Amino acid sequence: TTSFYVVATPLGNLRDIGMRALDILAAVDVVAAEDTRHSQRLLDAYNIRTRLVAVHEHNEQAAAESVLRMLEDGRHVALITDAGTPGISDPGARIVARVRAAGHPVVPVPGPCAAIAALSVSGFVEPGFHFAGFLPPKSAARRVALEALAAQTVPLVFYESPHRIDASLADIAATLGGEREILIARELTKVFEQVVRLPLAQASSWLAEDANRARGEFVLVVSPPPPREGLSPASEKVLQLLLEELP
Ligand code: SAM
Repeated sequence: TTSFYVVATPLGNLRDIGMRALDILAAVDVVAAEDTRHSQRLLDAYNIRTRLVAVHEHNEQAAAESVLRMLEDGRHVALITDAGTPGISDPGARIVARVRAAGHPVVPVPGPCAAIAALSVSGFVEPGFHFAGFLPPKSAARRVALEALAAQTVPLVFYESPHRIDASLADIAATLGGEREILIARELTKVFEQVVRLPLAQASSWLAEDANRARGEFVLVVSPPPPREGLSPASEKVLQLLLEELP
């Protein structure tokens, strides 16, 4: 059988690629990419001559079938997407599902992932996180989705594009509450990389302060709800009893 490699690529800085990723991209018969022009720059930077084929988002099903045909013709295929780890909030997931269902080995070649890069510098200490990916594009649906996440006790991680960052920050603050903290990670590993952490109540004004701040790609990490003020009635009672015993 032939192998299907799922290869992580840089988020921006072309040096952020693993040695094994380079070996595999050079060794396979075909590299299936989201945008061949974008990915050609990566292959050119490392003098990799492997043939690139496009896997467009609007025709994922057809793309999955064509990848499958290549594998069945005995060709080794590597899947890459525009940035980061394929399959994480991008068209890679459906292709992987199809190839896996057909019984081909699917081999991960790990590397950069925008969500993990942002979390790694967030300073949020809760163990675990909830990766929510992209929020719905329309405000009403977005607020419903956010309400459903409000009770999570771990940090929430979102992806956002420059088109909606403004509206999303407003909805996140309105539904989750201004006292939570948000980490805004913009253009990670690129020239205009910027990472700030501030109370959610200040996020919209931070964004509005400079038009450049709304540019680029974003990861948002939101802290869990602050612990509730006061104790439950049961704990209150226990505390009362303990206090009575103090000398
Ligand atoms: N699969 C990729 C991953 O997990 O790294 C993400 C693909 S998704 C289609 C693209 C989104 O990832 C962007 O809208 C943004 O939210 C995030 N992203 C990608 N590159 C980024 C970067 N350099 N800085 C911040 N966010 C980035």
